[in-house]
Amino acid sequence: MERISWHQYFMAQSHLLALRSTCQRLMVGATIVRDKRIIAGGYNGSVSGSVHCIDEGCYVIDGHCVRTIHAEMNALLQCAKFGASTEGAEIYVTHFPCLNCCKAIIQAGIKTVYYAEDYKNHPYAIELFKEVGVYTEKVELDHTYISLKPE
Ligand SMILES: [Zn+2]
Ligand SMILES: [Zn+2]
Repeated sequence: MERISWHQYFMAQSHLLALRSTCQRLMVGATIVRDKRIIAGGYNGSVSGSVHCIDEGCYVIDGHCVRTIHAEMNALLQCAKFGASTEGAEIYVTHFPCLNCCKAIIQAGIKTVYYAEDYKNHPYAIELFKEVGVYTEKVELDHTYISLKPE
C-alpha cells in the first residue's frame, strides 16, 4: 500500500471537517498546519452554543447566510482561543477562501494556502496574496482516500 502524501493527508482532513458543517449552503473545511503538524481545524458553523442552520434553516441577509462563521475563521479562532501561533503556518481548505477569510489568513501570518476547489476566487484576494507574498496552490483531493464528497 502506498503511503499517503502530506498534501493528501491534510487535504483529506479538511474534507472530513467539511462533513461536520452545520450550514449546508456550502460545506467547507479548513486545517491549519505548522511544521507538518495539524494545529487547528474548522468547518462552517454557528457560534458555539447557538442553533444550527441544519435545524433552524439559514439566516439569510442579502443572499448570504449570516449565522455561520467560515471554516477558515473557525480554525484561526481556535488558535486564538488555545494560544497556538499561526505565524508562518499553512492552511488547507476545501474551497478557495472568501475575501474576508483571505484577509484574516494574511493577518494571522499564514504564508501558504492550499485549496482543493476554486470558489468565486476574488481578484482582490488573489492580488493581496501576491502583494504580501502568500503562496497559493491548488491541491485536488484524491478520492481514493476519502470518497465522501461534501456537496
Ligand atoms: Zn446557514
Ligand atoms: Zn470566508
